[in-house]
Amino acid sequence: MPMIALTFDDGPNTVITPRVLDILEENGAVGTFFLIAQNINPESAEMVRRAVSLGCDIENHSVTHSFMDEMTPETIREEVKTCSEKITAITGRAPQFFRPPFIRVSREMYDNIDLTFICGAGCEDWVPEVTAEQRTERVLANAEDGQIVLLHDMEWNVNTVEALKTIVPELKRRGYRFVTCAQLFAEAGVTPVHGRLYSNVYQTVDKP
Ligand SMILES: [Zn+2]
Repeated sequence: MPMIALTFDDGPNTVITPRVLDILEENGAVGTFFLIAQNINPESAEMVRRAVSLGCDIENHSVTHSFMDEMTPETIREEVKTCSEKITAITGRAPQFFRPPFIRVSREMYDNIDLTFICGAGCEDWVPEVTAEQRTERVLANAEDGQIVLLHDMEWNVNTVEALKTIVPELKRRGYRFVTCAQLFAEAGVTPVHGRLYSNVYQTVDKP
């Protein structure tokens, strides 16, 4: 049975995050949310708790979402440590995965971030002009076993909510099992290699 990991960046918020969770819940699916720590507040933290209660995992997307490849080692470590601490305080589970902001990576980042780096197969859903139909077509056309799908639950991103209403049931119909990033590696029997960027558990992209 093929596996796929839906992942959502740049939350949490009280507008789009709950709508994404509604669709996952309706379909008995799970996803992985990569949080920007500065978006965590008492209200958005409730969305994080709900995600965890549905079986979703919460992972690290830094504090400020800046160009971390231009940062000093000390600042890189601080961005990741603070984000992980804020997440752990809510979920009780320390993040295992890191999505580099803007997918910009450097040797300093690999040397100073002790988490598995995740990229993902995107559909340009950070571009407002990309319609829900285009997002749906791209995700469904590219879907494959072991894939990590990169999506965004940022506050204005209603087109991704609309796309998910088709994407999730259709992947289910095709026999995909939805897993978190942690489950994807565990169930594939793959030990993540540090210094690599993963978009599919079975293959890595060498970057930089
Ligand atoms: Zn991001």
